[in-house]
Amino acid sequence: MGLKEIRERILAAEIAAGRPQGATELIAVSKVQPLERVEAVLEAGHRVFGENRVQEAQGKWPDFKERFDGVELHLIGPLQTNKARAAFELFDVIHSLDRPKLATTFARLADETGHCPPVFIQVNTGEEPQKAGLLPAETDAFVTQVRDLGLPLRGLMCIPPVDEEPSLHFALLAKLAERNGLEGLSMGMSSDFESAIALGATHVRVGSAIFGDRDYG
Ligand SMILES: *Cc1c(COP(=O)(O)O)cnc(C)c1O
Repeated sequence: MGLKEIRERILAAEIAAGRPQGATELIAVSKVQPLERVEAVLEAGHRVFGENRVQEAQGKWPDFKERFDGVELHLIGPLQTNKARAAFELFDVIHSLDRPKLATTFARLADETGHCPPVFIQVNTGEEPQKAGLLPAETDAFVTQVRDLGLPLRGLMCIPPVDEEPSLHFALLAKLAERNGLEGLSMGMSSDFESAIALGATHVRVGSAIFGDRDYG
């Protein structure tokens, strides 16, 4: 696969769902990928990337941002409170706001720095004990809290359980977003982004289908 094919499949999914062309932002998830693969996607003109670790992103993106104009970097992985300041400096959007303590830390940093990246609240739609995110039943109250803190809340994000039909989780996330008046839906990865688009995804996070398999060796 590759960038061009993924873009074509996103467009086809938007058309099939009766959604406007370009309704879905493609976040190219570059975590763990060799730098030359990331560079090739930058050379091809893509500018929106996702990373799941602050430290890993700090190692490659300051240099890429200097060499390529208009890079937009999204944090899609869990964020430790003590890395929030670094995340504010490097990332343009944060998809993993997953607990009250992090929200109050964001509010404090926003006060101090005069800036806060747009955020998505991560929802643990599968209610998996090991997974980050608010439980669906806690989500409405947390949305209110985040709004009361004045954070720029864009939407909700989920990572469905690996062994379940993702559509059910995408539909649940869409319902939670709608009833809270949120437009942004960060959902869908390499194996399921088309069904996420059918259910209203505004941001799909696609890694291996663009770059090839990640080598964790
Ligand atoms: C790694 C990752 C992705 C991309 O996964 P692929 O299956 O390679 O597309 C998407 N979202 C999150 C949160 C990730 O950590």
